Amino acid sequence: MISIKHKDFLFTPIVEYIIPAEKVAHVQVGNNAEHALLVLTKTGYSSIPVLDAGDRLKGLLSMRTVTDSILGLAHIEYERLPDLKVDEIMRTEIHTLKTTDTFQRGLDYLIDHPFVCVVEEDGTFSGILTRRVILKQFKKYIYNVQY
Ligand code: AMP
Repeated sequence: MISIKHKDFLFTPIVEYIIPAEKVAHVQVGNNAEHALLVLTKTGYSSIPVLDAGDRLKGLLSMRTVTDSILGLAHIEYERLPDLKVDEIMRTEIHTLKTTDTFQRGLDYLIDHPFVCVVEEDGTFSGILTRRVILKQFKKYIYNVQY
């Protein structure tokens, strides 16, 4: 069993481990579902943030959300993609972190999710904290820790 003697690891601020907004693939409110599907497919990410014109975080969009939205009774209705807006189908109830939060808060959320969005006080999207980044830091910490 891993025991963390010095809990300071948990209190590390997340700020320097955030993937910054400009490097995060996203879609904009008002984009259609066809565009979103293209971005999701091309990037290979399963879920991406939805931002408004002021770069504020409005929701998350996943491949599954898009597919669900065009699921007909007998087949997938691809022809509906251009008419569906991202903001009609995105998930809006999402957990976020602040840039001032610590690894501890990040960990709580990243156990169940591959990434979490980070926002400024006014809702401006700062970037994302991924499970991969946290695990990398955790591995570094465990390998370097003095017992
Ligand atoms: P990773 O931990 O790098 O495998 O990323 C986990 C998830 O975080 C991915 O499936 C995406 O949903 C999201 N993600 C990671 N990096 C990016 C990025 N640069 N742009 C958008 N989403 C990302």
